[in-house]
Amino acid sequence: MTEEKEIFHRHIQRAGLKRTAQRDTILDVFLRTEKHLSSEDLYHLVKEEDPNVGHTTVYRTLKLLVEAGLAREVRFGDGRTRYEHNYNHPHHDHMICTECGKTIEFFSAELEAIQDAIVAKHKFRPTQHSLRIFGVCAQCQRKAGAPTDESAAEPRIRFASAPNTQ
Ligand SMILES: [Zn+2]
Ligand SMILES: [Zn+2]
Ligand SMILES: [Zn+2]
Repeated sequence: MTEEKEIFHRHIQRAGLKRTAQRDTILDVFLRTEKHLSSEDLYHLVKEEDPNVGHTTVYRTLKLLVEAGLAREVRFGDGRTRYEHNYNHPHHDHMICTECGKTIEFFSAELEAIQDAIVAKHKFRPTQHSLRIFGVCAQCQRKAGAPTDESAAEPRIRFASAPNTQ
């Protein structure tokens, strides 16, 4: 059994709930899908494996995954809550294409450090943050026939992994 499953089962026990085959299937499908999923998206994936599963069960299980620290909520400005892996997944922020909905994950130690300095200056104790940059991805810019910035300036954001700091 994976660590994630153990964490989930411990959480379910603590919450006074029963372990069910449906919850296990939902967890399995969630864990092997490396994406930003709405509960609707996850529901459709789970249904392929268990046609009897209901949307409410998927939704409630996702909430349990968040409580257990296995999933985190992300919002991309279209009113839908999406979920991504949280456990052992380093903090990152998102660029969101407003044309096709694609999301690009990025991490910048420099940006994180600047944010830390700003909150410290305000004696603010942060619990979490999410930085979202909305715009148009390179592919959609090409489709629209506009010149892209791809060959411009050096990339200032480096993609890197980071410790799990939320
Ligand atoms: Zn960040
Ligand atoms: Zn796009
Ligand atoms: Zn993400």
